[in-house]
Amino acid sequence: MKIVLFALLSITLLFGAKIEFEVLGSGGPEIDGRASTSYLLWIDNEAKLIVDMGSGSMLRFEESHAKIETLEAVVLTHLHIDHSVDLPSFVKAGYFSQRTKSLDIIGPDDNWYFPSTSEFLENLFGSDGAYRYMKDVLEEKNDSFQIIPFNIDEKTTRKYKSFTLTMIPVHHGIVPALAVRIDVQGKSILISGDTNNKNHSLEKLAKGVDLFVAHHAIPEYAQGYATELHMKPTEIAKIAKNAHVEEVLLTHRMKRTLGVEQETMNIISKVYKGKVSFAEDKMKVEL
Ligand SMILES: [Zn+2]
Repeated sequence: MKIVLFALLSITLLFGAKIEFEVLGSGGPEIDGRASTSYLLWIDNEAKLIVDMGSGSMLRFEESHAKIETLEAVVLTHLHIDHSVDLPSFVKAGYFSQRTKSLDIIGPDDNWYFPSTSEFLENLFGSDGAYRYMKDVLEEKNDSFQIIPFNIDEKTTRKYKSFTLTMIPVHHGIVPALAVRIDVQGKSILISGDTNNKNHSLEKLAKGVDLFVAHHAIPEYAQGYATELHMKPTEIAKIAKNAHVEEVLLTHRMKRTLGVEQETMNIISKVYKGKVSFAEDKMKVEL
């Protein structure tokens, strides 16, 4: 047994862990055959982190054969429906799992228009919430596991057993929203979340990441309010170039960006020379 453990440890030290980023949902809120936003971090074939839980993501989670028991945290980049609506299904499925350990649900703080993450969970599962029959999940003693909310309103780093998260508030119109950087054993991923990158907040967080997961919800010719919410391809390209990112994955694809992939690629490749690809549901990128 000792020899086996020693061999496994040596292999891990020599080659590092197998780190994979899976897209559970590559779409936005529209009906387009894609699940809405959701991502899964795998380390050595165990699911460790979910970022966002848009519609359809719970089914994709099931299809991925991930286990609720191995997760260390959940991040909701913001509380729009296409990023959060499957959370109750996930919590209910968790009730029937073997999980007993509490699970952190991290998300933005409130503003005039949106609840904080803790209020959001209270509105769902609290004693006056819509799913109050599940109110035990917010309490320490219960039949399954407790979910613990964290509201993020400034740059915050949280260390977990398998990874470190760094989150910053980003501009997404009137919506409190976060970008999330994940650091795992020398590898790093930045998820932009929905933002137009006003104030250039992403460049610093993106510095040197292996994978920049960029929400690509508008084409270059977009105008009006959509540009308050989302980045154009040139903005994504500039961040990727200035931050020297290794690879870009374009996701949160919407009807207005579907069908113009070649134009988008041409625009990005004028500025950024690294690898760029378009996300699909269930696509995995190994780091
Ligand atoms: Zn969205």
